[in-house]
Amino acid sequence: MLVVMKQDASMAEISGVIRAIEAMGLKPHPTRGVDRTIIGVVDGERANDLAHLESTPGVEQVIPITKAYKLVSREFKPADTVVRVGNVSVGGDGFTVMAGPCAVEGRDQVLQAARAVKRAGAVILRGGAFKPRTSPYSFQGLGEEGLKILAEARQETGLPVVTEVISPELVPLVSEYADILQIGARNMQNYALLEAVGRVRKPVLLKRGMMSTIEELLMSAEYVLSNGNQQVILCERGIRTFEKATRNTLDISAVPVIKRDSHLPVIVDPSHALGHTEFVPSMALAAVAAGADGIIVEVHPCPETAWCDGVQSLTFEMFEEMMVGVRRVAAAMGRPLEGGVRPAVAGA
Ligand code: PEP
Ligand code: MN
Repeated sequence: MLVVMKQDASMAEISGVIRAIEAMGLKPHPTRGVDRTIIGVVDGERANDLAHLESTPGVEQVIPITKAYKLVSREFKPADTVVRVGNVSVGGDGFTVMAGPCAVEGRDQVLQAARAVKRAGAVILRGGAFKPRTSPYSFQGLGEEGLKILAEARQETGLPVVTEVISPELVPLVSEYADILQIGARNMQNYALLEAVGRVRKPVLLKRGMMSTIEELLMSAEYVLSNGNQQVILCERGIRTFEKATRNTLDISAVPVIKRDSHLPVIVDPSHALGHTEFVPSMALAAVAAGADGIIVEVHPCPETAWCDGVQSLTFEMFEEMMVGVRRVAAAMGRPLEGGVRPAVAGA
């Protein structure tokens, strides 16, 4: 249920409603919007017992949230969420580009990639130190050594780092180094992991599972928000269909659908969706045009020798060229590339 306060409700009236909700053993989630406060209550069926609050001073109305997910829904929070990572925003006025290698392979590889993607306009560095691989015999990542390399690249370039965490036990370690915790497609429904990242105060990049619906993605995000972490970025990275010409099928329509139903920022990963460099630039442009808040792209100093996902990793030249187009389409969409400090946005 949503308890919508009157525009002129006083602080005392808002606290009174919060206390009344708590007195019923329920948990209030107040959101202070630009012109009014909305208090959400999502504790299952019992939230339905709140209708009587309509007669409490300061309350405008009590309305049900119709969607299965609550905290991530636009009904709950109409204003877009802007996730802040250092000086960079995701979901604000700008279009945010994250780029880097699939996996951290070594110091030189990451440092070179970090410098190159920064030069071309990326503002967040990606790189996996823990790799969830389909085969147990494939390279599993450098682990903590990889995290240290990413931290060194951040130190040198100033780019915040997004890197994957693959199990709840690793959340404290990865959080020490990462600026954004990535939950991979294979872990989208790992509920213990979602709860663990929900308890930390670090932004989370949640990738859509390859066999998951948009609603399931939003329900997974709900696990993170309901554990206390509101800083979630959603990522469409392609879903498995009968089509074999591409690695996955990029569900570009997920972007406007998620934008309608949720306040969370949404980015697109054209690298894992298409699986081949040839198709990555056009789908990156499609992502901008569809209204995504950013992209995450794999870039490698020497894709032929990459230990992981070389066929879909752009060379520095390809990335630079792609960024010329991304910049143009982003400008046409009224969303210049995100590039640094921005003023705070109300309701974020
Ligand atoms: C990745 O980003 O490196 C990755 C493994 O992606 P996904 O989880 O989308 O397959
Ligand atoms: Mn990859």
